[in-house]
Amino acid sequence: MNAAPADQIRLLDVQALDVRLSQLAHKRKSLPEHAEIESLTKDLTQLRDLLVAATTEESDTAREQTKAEQDVDQVRQRATRNQERLDSGAVSSPKDLENLQKEIVSLAKRQGDLEDVVLEVMERRESAQERAAELTERVGAVQGKVDDATARREAAFTEIDGEVAKVAKEREVVVASIPADLVKLYEKLRTQSGGVGAARLYQRRCEGCQLELNITEVMEVRAAAPDAVLRCENCRRILVRTPDSGI
Ligand SMILES: [Zn+2]
Repeated sequence: MNAAPADQIRLLDVQALDVRLSQLAHKRKSLPEHAEIESLTKDLTQLRDLLVAATTEESDTAREQTKAEQDVDQVRQRATRNQERLDSGAVSSPKDLENLQKEIVSLAKRQGDLEDVVLEVMERRESAQERAAELTERVGAVQGKVDDATARREAAFTEIDGEVAKVAKEREVVVASIPADLVKLYEKLRTQSGGVGAARLYQRRCEGCQLELNITEVMEVRAAAPDAVLRCENCRRILVRTPDSGI
């Protein structure tokens, strides 16, 4: 393949812009905010799960408390009715009186037990409420951190994407000035060779693979026409001659 020396040198400009573009892509992908957001989001998910559990516990204990209070009321009402019957003097049989008094005693005991249950449920409800309040606060704080890191990441994206657009535009202009077949070869080699398709020959060294040309290769480069498109014998990249090639 042949191409004017100036076109070959412009290929090095394209190569430099491509290196810049891959650096920008790498920078975009490895922003510290990615890991920060991921870790905070994990924390947030855990805290939200705990909050759901605390809120559920809160409403469960509220229901439990209502039920326990109703149980106490029923026992109290029954005890009151029994006491009224006793006070009214309507029960006269000694056996009935004895049974009624026994029931009043046992209802008092039952009421005491049920009131203990109410107290125990109230304690659990209160601690669930405290836990829910604390978790709500923590969720808010972590969410604030997520929002902050996300805003920083967006700002970095905007800056990097602006730079990418600028470099891509510049690349487009340079590529348009180079013969299509040379660009095509460059693109093919660039894909095959880790993002570097064209390398400068500098002081007899290929800057693509960093190997120095042996004497036979130097002679071949010397003998080649200026518009011949040369390839590195070692890495197969397009080897571009410049005044600093040492040939
Ligand atoms: Zn090479």
